[in-house]
Amino acid sequence: MAEINSLIPKELSALMAGNRIPHAVALESSDKSALSECANYLAGWAICKSSNRPCGECAACRKLKSGNHPDVYTAKPEGKKNAVKISEIRAICADSVIKPNESDCKVYIIPEADKMEAAPQNAFLKLMEEPPQPMLFILLCENTLGLLRTIRSRCSVFKLNAEGGDDEQAKALAEDIAKALCQSKEISLIYACCALDDRQTALNALGCLSELVRSATVCGITGTLSGDNPLVKELSMSVKRRGLIAMQESIAKAADYLRKNVNLSLVSSTLAINLRYNKYL
Ligand SMILES: [Zn+2]
Repeated sequence: MAEINSLIPKELSALMAGNRIPHAVALESSDKSALSECANYLAGWAICKSSNRPCGECAACRKLKSGNHPDVYTAKPEGKKNAVKISEIRAICADSVIKPNESDCKVYIIPEADKMEAAPQNAFLKLMEEPPQPMLFILLCENTLGLLRTIRSRCSVFKLNAEGGDDEQAKALAEDIAKALCQSKEISLIYACCALDDRQTALNALGCLSELVRSATVCGITGTLSGDNPLVKELSMSVKRRGLIAMQESIAKAADYLRKNVNLSLVSSTLAINLRYNKYL
């Protein structure tokens, strides 16, 4: 297990330091223990009583560490799919109206949030939209593309810093597709999409690609570039805004097919066709 600081993305640390954590945060990583470590760190930030949050030493932090903090609740995934069920979300909704015991806000951690069925996600969405009091929702995902779009759009999404090589590979595949989208040759896009030849890496690559396209959309609207990826800028200049928005849909759809076990080469070739179509919208 790496040091917590090396896992937390810079943007998230900056928000914590500036006291500007949004009320719903989705953390993404393929490393489950890294996800729960970061969720607890963030929960500690929310409930810690010291000036340097989370201190890890005050009574609140110690209670959290032993899993006994009354204002921090971690939902329990269950069943074959190991996902949080609607009964659990209903229990959280009922608990959410009760005032916090010791802190200024209540914290709900939802592990495997991207594995939840539509019904619990929708029930949770209602709570996210109208929290009865100050709350922090932390959604843990292997891939945030598994969240309903309505939920994803209400969360600030942070990808945990990767340790392994898998994520590097996914990032490189996503960048190849983004580069191909900036070129006029159709064949490079087909090659880049067909390089997605492993289901899990493809899912991760689609997550990276979605992030690139999202940043390019923002860059196209505001003219500002977050981070220092010149590819994002190039993409924002090569594809119109409505094309980029349509691309997000195509990527989300491809990820959905992958999760439903649709044939991988069918998914990647359909993705290439859809992206090409989106490009000229
Ligand atoms: Zn503390």
